[in-house]
Amino acid sequence: MYIILLGPPGSGTGTQGDILAQRLGVLKIATGDLLRGAVEARTPLGLEAKRHMDRKEMVPDKIILSLIKEQLTSEAAAQGIVMDSFPRTVRQAEAVNQLLAERLERIDRVLLLDVPEAELTQRRLSRAPDEGRGGETAEVIEQRLQAYRHSTAPVVGFYREMGVLSIVDGTGTEEEIAERVKEAVGA
Ligand code: ADP
Repeated sequence: MYIILLGPPGSGTGTQGDILAQRLGVLKIATGDLLRGAVEARTPLGLEAKRHMDRKEMVPDKIILSLIKEQLTSEAAAQGIVMDSFPRTVRQAEAVNQLLAERLERIDRVLLLDVPEAELTQRRLSRAPDEGRGGETAEVIEQRLQAYRHSTAPVVGFYREMGVLSIVDGTGTEEEIAERVKEAVGA
């Protein structure tokens, strides 16, 4: 199964992605993790990405596309993938469709975790210190939410048009949300 979990920053796609990937026995891929790996490995791609990440900007599609191409065409991805918080632009979404089509696969479901913005801000402010994410001030959080509204909201429309979008209530306990996610993908 090829599943995408989308949601604004702080909506819990990482946690729910882990749970779902384990349940389905497939890989979870998050572009945030791939980018941090490339930055740590100091690859040319990582160094270029870092300039944008340091400025809290979206990393350009060109970089993201070469990262996900490697992943989506890997042997490990043949069983399926849970994609966490990407695609974040329509261009990335089109590239994912194309890469999957090349292996005669398609996106089965896209789940949008729906969490009110006031709760998102609260969650991020309260978790910032223990996660070691410095600089997670209200201002930075608002900046991320704005980037999300601007770039990623159109991706939701893209998948709605494709007829694969499900909106999942992202509030409540981790277990409650995991149960809704499970139902939405029919797992
Ligand atoms: P968050 O977006 O919640 O800050 P992530 O770990 O998902 O956390 O991503 C960290 C940073 O990496 C983002 O702020 C952004 O700069 C960049 N990034 C991650 N994934 C993408 C993507 N698919 N497209 C563009 N930029 C991305």
